[in-house]
Amino acid sequence: MAENVFENALIQLGKVADLIKLDKTYLEILSKPERAVYVNFPVKMDNGKIRMFQGFRMQYNSARGPYKGGIRFHQEVSDYEVKALSFWMAMKCAVVNIPLGGGKGGVIVDPKKLSKKELENLSRSYVRAIFDCIGPNKDIPAPDVNTTPEIMAWMSDEFKRLKVKSKKVKATSKKLKIADNEWLPTFTGKPIKKGGSQGRTEATALGGYFVLCEAIKKSKIKNQKSKITVAVQGVGNVGYNIAKILASDERFCVVAVSDSRSGVYNKDGIDLEKVMQQKEKTGSVSGLTDTKKITNSELLELDVDVLVPAAIENQITNDNANRIKANIILEMANGPTTPDADKILYKKKKVVIPDILANAGGVTVSYFEWLQNMDSKYWSLEEVNTKLAKTMKKSFADVWKEASKYKVDLRMGADALAVERIIKKIKK
Ligand code: GLU
Repeated sequence: MAENVFENALIQLGKVADLIKLDKTYLEILSKPERAVYVNFPVKMDNGKIRMFQGFRMQYNSARGPYKGGIRFHQEVSDYEVKALSFWMAMKCAVVNIPLGGGKGGVIVDPKKLSKKELENLSRSYVRAIFDCIGPNKDIPAPDVNTTPEIMAWMSDEFKRLKVKSKKVKATSKKLKIADNEWLPTFTGKPIKKGGSQGRTEATALGGYFVLCEAIKKSKIKNQKSKITVAVQGVGNVGYNIAKILASDERFCVVAVSDSRSGVYNKDGIDLEKVMQQKEKTGSVSGLTDTKKITNSELLELDVDVLVPAAIENQITNDNANRIKANIILEMANGPTTPDADKILYKKKKVVIPDILANAGGVTVSYFEWLQNMDSKYWSLEEVNTKLAKTMKKSFADVWKEASKYKVDLRMGADALAVERIIKKIKK
């Protein structure tokens, strides 16, 4: 992962500070995480040996509420990256106006190289390492790249175990019970059976779909007779689900998808059920029947109406921004476009729906999960999705209004809105 990802975030923050004439002191507050936690922790491997791993938890800003944000397992995770991601979480929660701050965690590991037992050991050991820093009203982690609901269940269980243990020490009582709201709302994105919310798995994708539909209403492709063509980079949880949602809406045709190894293209549309089967069978979309093989860079430059980067950072850069043909770019990944590329896209009149708005559906439903856990009342899928739709549409309208007010692109509009909302709380 590029080390400049946090610098890029600060460049963007600097531009927004100029735009809204932000006082230097506040800019300084927003330029650093409140707390940076570095951990090294042991994991028992299947061969009986202990291996040390390194992880982070960045607690960027808590002006609007407890820190909130996922945990990423990736071999290229760095403190720079996690710092940038935690900053974006603070901004994201402010854009959708939920009372949470920004945090993010990461562990340097290639989870594909671990057995299931080793992955569980790693997840539990990481929680032991950050136990003191997290909790329902302190810092609330969730899934991110390569972390699943099952991993959240292990982590949540480990947190509960430690919480009971710490209480026992204090109370020296053997049979000690703790209330659900003391531990259950600490992790979100849990499986439904373990206290998770209906709709959380698809929430990021569905949120993106809602804002895309709003953006189309405002764009020049709204009256297009033919289907709106879409290319999706990355078919992890978010990319796969948004491709599936779009493919099931007759206005859209998903013509290309990819994973980290390769991409596939069919001008008449990709069969998403087959993509899933292929991924389960071979671990990659490569070789899917009725498709033409393409590379990830070819996918980004396809002649489509909508491009959905749903993988990792720094995909649309100074090098390829000029060749992007899509009119709308829906950033489902965090930080897929560099500031240089942004300038080029803006000149070419492309509509970039920024990450902190486009992918905020995930954290929105995480917030719903936290609320449900806090008062042990669970909502139906319909209730969750109705509330999600309302939040995303309102956030899109707020961002659009802010961008129009300052006559800037949607990213600047979203950032300005977020910074203003965070600063308002800091001043209180
Ligand atoms: N990892 C997701 C994100 O980047 C979700 C965070 C959360 O639910 O807390 O938005």
